[in-house]
Order: sequence, then C-alpha cells, then structure tokens
Amino acid sequence: MIPRSVFEPEHEQFRDSVRKFFEVEAVPFHEQWEKDGQIDRDLWLKAGKLGLLVPTADEVYGGVAVDFRYNAVVSEEASRLGLSGVGFFLHSDIAVPYLLKNGNEAQKQKYIAGCISGETIVAIAMTEPGTGSDLQGIKTTAVLEGDEYVINGAKTFITCGLQSDLVIVVCRTDPNAGSKGLSLILVESGTEGFSKGAKLEKIGLKAQDTSELFFQDVRVPKENLLGEEGMGFVYLMRELPQERLSIAIAATASAESILAQTVDYVKQRKAFGKPIAAFQNSQFELAELDAKISCMRVFIDKCLELLINKELDTVTASKAKMLATDLSFDVANRCLQLHGGYGYMWEYPVARAFADTRVLSIYGGTNEIMKLIIGRELLG
Ligand SMILES: Cc1cc2nc3c(=O)[nH]c(=O)nc-3n(C[C@H](O)[C@H](O)[C@H](O)COP(=O)(O)OP(=O)(O)OC[C@H]3O[C@@H](n4cnc5c(N)ncnc54)[C@H](O)[C@@H]3O)c2cc1C
Repeated sequence: MIPRSVFEPEHEQFRDSVRKFFEVEAVPFHEQWEKDGQIDRDLWLKAGKLGLLVPTADEVYGGVAVDFRYNAVVSEEASRLGLSGVGFFLHSDIAVPYLLKNGNEAQKQKYIAGCISGETIVAIAMTEPGTGSDLQGIKTTAVLEGDEYVINGAKTFITCGLQSDLVIVVCRTDPNAGSKGLSLILVESGTEGFSKGAKLEKIGLKAQDTSELFFQDVRVPKENLLGEEGMGFVYLMRELPQERLSIAIAATASAESILAQTVDYVKQRKAFGKPIAAFQNSQFELAELDAKISCMRVFIDKCLELLINKELDTVTASKAKMLATDLSFDVANRCLQLHGGYGYMWEYPVARAFADTRVLSIYGGTNEIMKLIIGRELLG
C-alpha cells in the first residue's frame, strides 16, 4: 500500500475522533434513519459540538478556520462506514461555502454560526423538474418589487430539502441575459409561499432526504441576494472544483471500504470445499480493483493537495469526479457479485453501496457533462 502523505498527524488525530463519533452516534441508528428517510436532527447538533460541520469557517463566525483536509476526513469516515445518509458534505463542502465566499458581513453574521453548530442546515437548489445538466434552462424567477424579491418556480432532487433551514435558490433575475441572468437568493424555511414536497423515494441513499421545493409568490427582502445580481452562474462555476473533488473523495473512500470488506468475506465463505478467495477469478477480480483503487487514491490525494493550495482547476476536478465515481460503482458491483446472493441482501454493506454509489455519476454534474468539460479543454 502506498502511504498517504497529504494528511498531517493532526488530521489523523481528528480522524480518530470523527470515526469514534460516527461509530457511537450514527452507525447504530442508520438503519432506522433509512426507514425514516432522513437522519436524526440531533446528529447535526452533536456533530456541530464536535467541530465536524464547516470546519473551514473563520473564527469570527465561531469556526475553527482549518483547511479542507478536515472536511475530507469527515467525508471519508462517513463513507467508510457506509453512512450514506449523513449529508454533512453537501452542507460543509458545497452549500455553506457559497455563503462564506459570496455572503456579505450581515449574512455571515446571521447564518454562519448556526451552520457550524448544526442549527441551520443549508441546501442548494439548482435543479428543476425541467432542467438539471443545463443550468441555463433554469426557469424559477426572482423579480425585484420595491425592496423585495418575489420568487416563483419549483426545484427538485434537493438534498436535505426537508431538513434544511436555509436554501440557496438559483433564480433567474433577468429573463433575457442567459447565464448572466442567474442569481443566488437565500430563502428561509417557513417563509410564506415556500413549501416542500414529500420525501422522494430513491433506489439508494435511503437515509438522506431528497425533496421537491415549491415557490409561490415567495417574498424575501432584497438583502437576501447572495453576492451580486446576475453573478449566480459565475459563483456556481467557481465552486465546481471543490464540489466535484468532494464527491470523488467520498467515492474513493467507499471503494476502499467495500474492497476491504469483500476481501474478508471471500476468505471466510466457502464453496466446493474451498474459500471463495482460493478461486482464481476472485483473486483476479480483487487484484484488478485493488490496483485501480490504489491509482485513484494517489490521484485524489494529489487533487486534495492542489485544492488546499488553491491550484485545483475545474477540468482536473471533473476527471477526478468522473473516474472516482465510475470506479466506486464498479467496485460495488463486482464485489457484490463475489458475495453471491448475500450481496443482494440489504443488510450487507455491499448491497447498500451498490445502490448508494449509483447516483455518484449523476449528481454534482453527470459524468457525461464531465466528459464534455474534459473534451472541450482537450480539443478546444
Ligand atoms: C440523490 C440526488 C441528490 C441530488 N441533490 C441535488 C441538490 O442538492 N441540489 C441540486 O440542485 N440538484 C441535486 N440533484 C440533481 C442532480 O444534480 C441532477 O439530477 C443532475 O445534474 C442531472 O440533471 P437531470 O437529472 O436533469 O438530468 P438531465 O440533464 O435531463 O440528463 C439526462 C441524461 O442526459 C445526459 N446529458 C444531458 N446533457 C448532455 C449533453 N450536453 N451531452 C451528453 N449528454 C447529456 C445526462 O448526462 C444524463 O445522462 C440531485 C440528484 C439526485 C439523484
């Protein structure tokens, strides 16, 4: 195994406490949360107390101002334990950074402390029933009337949509300006005219709430605009490297964990008087997956190093997202096969991983969109 060099001893210390936290506070309850369709709200508050949420936030807002490797540790440990319902990475790595980077002082003072403590769960709402990959097709409108924006439209597939207290809504503020007509607007839960649909039934990520959001003449003060009007698309594009790497980090940790569990399984399960591990096919399958994961680990750690040095570009992050998510599903699929019928049983982590990793090539920009981005740079 190639030693990892991207983390310092303090990250590994943090990792120990994160792992213990998840083992005690999340693993025993995750099955129930899968039935509930969402994780317990208390987990957010407990995680907040331990500094697991938005660890990069500045001290003035109550954060600890550490680097993104701490986010990576939280994500890796949740993925290793198969805690696919724990949506911290969406909150800490994807949604709250929009506030941290584009919010004005008043917005940060109002919301960030709650994001860190777990009292304010933040969701990001881009996708609509009619458009996902093509953000320029967004139809939800925000019209300035006096001192208020009036929002109308619908969003779908929104992670933590039901549990969220604050949603960053991507709205069209100028119908004629294409991508320059999009803006990010903050909408708090409970605002009149803002309603949430039922929990969407998914084939995986059972403990993660995913829902539709509806906006009917929702009035919010014009101060809820995040950054500048018309800059929404630029802000979204700016966050892509971190968002995509974040997904790749979770995917790689999941692949490593499923491979390790499968190695244990094939050693103890017997057929034809021998352990499954004794068959050449099992050895070849596991050897190939192990070699691919080792390469992926080196690449993803390099991307993490680039990110913390502010050098990770969108194309490289897109390669990481595409390759790591494809690999994690391939690992889950082939390891499931090595488990035989047990692999198809929900109680086995490999079955859950098969269902959970399927979405990774879809959300955060589909892997076809990743190929478009990579191809565009390659071919001009
Ligand atoms: C569990 C889950 C959680 C999610 N969480 C969030 C969230 O928190 N916030 C949010 O805003 N969204 C979220 N999404 C939405 C997700 O980002 C979109 O589903 C995704 O971007 C794809 O959009 P779409 O579903 O509209 O597919 P479409 O855009 O309709 O794409 C359908 C197919 O066409 C392909 N395609 C589209 N355009 C091209 C092209 N130009 N060239 C080649 N192929 C193309 C796609 O790759 C795909 O295979 C979530 C989705 C899921 C399933």
